[in-house]
Amino acid sequence: MELDLGPELEKFREEIRTWIADNAPEGLADLTDWNSSGFASGNASYEDALTSPLYAQWSDRLLAAGMICASWPKEYGGQDWTAIQNTIFAEEAFRAGVPTVNRGFGESMVGPSVMVNGSQAQKDHFLPRIISAQDIYCQGFSEPDHGSDLGAVATRGIIDGDEIIITGQKVWTSQYYRANMIFVLVRTDTDAPKHRGISYVLLPFTAENGVDKRPLRQITGAAEFGHEYFDGSRAPIFNIIGGVNNGWRVAMTTLGHERSGSATIAYLQHEKEFWELVDLARKHGRDKDPVVRQQLAWAYSHVQVIRFLGLRILAQIAAGKEPGPEASMTKLFRSDFQQRLGEIAVHIEGPEALIRPESTGPHEREPGDYVLDPWQTAFLAGRSHTIYSGSNEIQRNIIAERVLGMPKEPSAYQG
Ligand SMILES: Cc1cc2nc3c(=O)[nH]c(=O)nc-3n(C[C@H](O)[C@H](O)[C@H](O)COP(=O)(O)OP(=O)(O)OC[C@H]3O[C@@H](n4cnc5c(N)ncnc54)[C@H](O)[C@@H]3O)c2cc1C
Repeated sequence: MELDLGPELEKFREEIRTWIADNAPEGLADLTDWNSSGFASGNASYEDALTSPLYAQWSDRLLAAGMICASWPKEYGGQDWTAIQNTIFAEEAFRAGVPTVNRGFGESMVGPSVMVNGSQAQKDHFLPRIISAQDIYCQGFSEPDHGSDLGAVATRGIIDGDEIIITGQKVWTSQYYRANMIFVLVRTDTDAPKHRGISYVLLPFTAENGVDKRPLRQITGAAEFGHEYFDGSRAPIFNIIGGVNNGWRVAMTTLGHERSGSATIAYLQHEKEFWELVDLARKHGRDKDPVVRQQLAWAYSHVQVIRFLGLRILAQIAAGKEPGPEASMTKLFRSDFQQRLGEIAVHIEGPEALIRPESTGPHEREPGDYVLDPWQTAFLAGRSHTIYSGSNEIQRNIIAERVLGMPKEPSAYQG
């Protein structure tokens, strides 16, 4: 079913479709399956495609046309695209089999947080650097002992003249190997109640700045996470967003965007995965199996629910509301779905799912990286969905307290 978005947005869709057809370099769509990036972990063709001249050309054209960070306000280098226009662009790129080029954590989390909480000088300095990819960010919130209880972060930030000096550790840092900047939560006041002694810092993420980055191997064989040790790493006080000891408020802006970020277009990829799963069932002669058929019907109906949950968030954003606790419902629903989808896939594959392809990792960041087939990856990576961006238990707490109005859970912590 296609939604009737009205003539103006249909015209926008036509323009975008034509622009993509005119500007996507020939051969870009054939480099890899760009629409399967969810399964990209350890995927050689995807990683190679990202470094190809065709991708660079496409990226330059998008940049020149203002189509990177296009949902940002014009004054910050965007196009003021609404959430609906952004979704239309993603849908059209998906349809053409070409990638949207986004600036990752910088675009979806740091930028919005700086726009809401930063000074004019900080906006002028940091936002253009995100658009141009001069600054590529990763997220330094979690620590070995503090994940869900983010307010308890222990990494220290000490103000020294016009600098802040940072010492401590961060862990589970996704895409750390691409980043030259990290946004970190650090404790700048050890006496204040825990949520009031935190600062949000944009920190140069380099060995020269005292950052020791170590890869962490995942169950899927890839090493996409980092564990970082900060030993007197420095940033100018200018890089503290929202003011010293005011980082909790900024972190909440960031998390609101993290949890709603991809919700509006997620169904595209889920729907594609669903049809690949149907093909898998056919290939294994399981498409007549009544249990498998029930599982597929379950999966399809869930993809549709995900689509409508996304549209609900879209409608909220379009109405000018900040993404709220409803984003937790979508995150929870999708996490359970993705985990179950992986289980259904390996059930269809049968004993074959127990044997991994004979190959070492194509992009070794650690000796001994290995690759899996996409469904093995989906099954094993499924464990992570109910943990990252706030675990399922945390999402349920948010829904209980902020959507259903239930009493706040008792906390063992002070503050
Ligand atoms: C794929 C992936 C990518 C990630 N990327 C990043 C990243 O880029 N940057 C970053 O900073 N972090 C990242 N993380 C870390 C992630 O944010 C944390 O793992 C997550 O917040 C949980 O924290 P924890 O691992 O310390 O578990 P804990 O907080 O110790 O939780 C352990 C268990 O206790 C439960 N629990 C905790 N508190 C409560 C409560 N109040 N009520 C009920 N149950 C509770 C949890 O649900 C969980 O089951 C990533 C994690 C994954 C899996």
